[in-house]
Amino acid sequence: MIHYSCDMCGKDLASEGDARFVVRVEVYAAHDPAELTTEDLDADAVQSLSELLADAPEGADLSAHLPPTRNEFRYDLCPSCHRRYVRNPLARETSLQFSEN
Ligand SMILES: [Zn+2]
Repeated sequence: MIHYSCDMCGKDLASEGDARFVVRVEVYAAHDPAELTTEDLDADAVQSLSELLADAPEGADLSAHLPPTRNEFRYDLCPSCHRRYVRNPLARETSLQFSEN
C-alpha cells in the first residue's frame, strides 16, 4: 500500500481517510527553446558549446548541462493545506491583497 503524507505540513494522510488532494504544476518556457537567438549565435557561445560537445564522452547525456526548459512538480496535500494552497497558489504576499486604507 502506498503511503501518503502532506507535502506542506507533513501530516500522515492515511489517518485522514481518503481526503487527499494532488497538486500538479508544470512550468515551461513560453517561447520555443529550439529557436536560435542572436545570443546563441554569439561566437563565444558557439565555441563553448562545441567544447562541451568535444569533451563529452560518446553518448553522454548533455541535457544536464543545458538550462531546463520544462519542470513538473507533484504534491499531495491534506484538506487544510489544499484550502490554503488554492487561495494563494503562488505564495504571494497576502498583505498586497489588502489595502491599508
Ligand atoms: Zn497539510
